[in-house]
Amino acid sequence: MDITIISKKADRLEFLLEGTTPAFANAMRRIMVAEIPVLSVDEVDFHDNTSALYDEVLAQRLGLIPIVFDPKDFNLTSECSCKGKGCSNCEAVFIIEKKGPCTVYSGDMKAANKGTKPTDPRFPIVQLLEKQALKLEAKARLGLGVRHAKHQAAIASYQYYPVVRKAKDGEKYERCPDGLLNTKGAKPAIADVTKADLEGGKCMADGYVVEMDGSKFQFRVETVSGLAPEDIVTLAAKVLEARADEFAKQAKAL
Ligand SMILES: [Zn+2]
Repeated sequence: MDITIISKKADRLEFLLEGTTPAFANAMRRIMVAEIPVLSVDEVDFHDNTSALYDEVLAQRLGLIPIVFDPKDFNLTSECSCKGKGCSNCEAVFIIEKKGPCTVYSGDMKAANKGTKPTDPRFPIVQLLEKQALKLEAKARLGLGVRHAKHQAAIASYQYYPVVRKAKDGEKYERCPDGLLNTKGAKPAIADVTKADLEGGKCMADGYVVEMDGSKFQFRVETVSGLAPEDIVTLAAKVLEARADEFAKQAKAL
């Protein structure tokens, strides 16, 4: 199995995965989306809320704000040494204390734990008018996207990688998107893989067919949480590894 980076940005990673099967690629994709522990606001204590929004609506809005965190700093509450009571190893606390008139933004969430903060300080939470006030304590915990979408780590997808071959007699497919194939040299080659989003999986240009290789995958991972895309990929591998270990342990006991 080989991994080659195609492009890398702060919020998005594109890479080529070779020499594996659709089953493995899909297992990785599903874990990246829904089974990596992600920190999100899970419980809110309201001390004062005279804003136009109900406590429940505000709690929901806080839950959806992505939070930057270091996965090494937090345990799942259910697996923490505090036995689910809640402690600084499994909870990140944020305080908001604002008086109107003003708009309360995610940047107003003051973190009690080091290394945690909203991914962007500009998410609006609620508008406060004259004499309205908001005072609350929010606890963020690790959770999985399968339980609630606020814990989703990434949007992850893949497609089979394009390969080129000479067209057989009578073969006819739609013309390839411009820029996908370079047929000018001695050997035709894929010029830009990002153009290979083919409907029906095949296309043609200048007597050559471009089709998809079922052992090569072009992966796209875009973070929607406080984790970097490259961390999401390595954490997904760890989750799969832990599951394989558990399977081996159970199988050994049979
Ligand atoms: Zn704990």
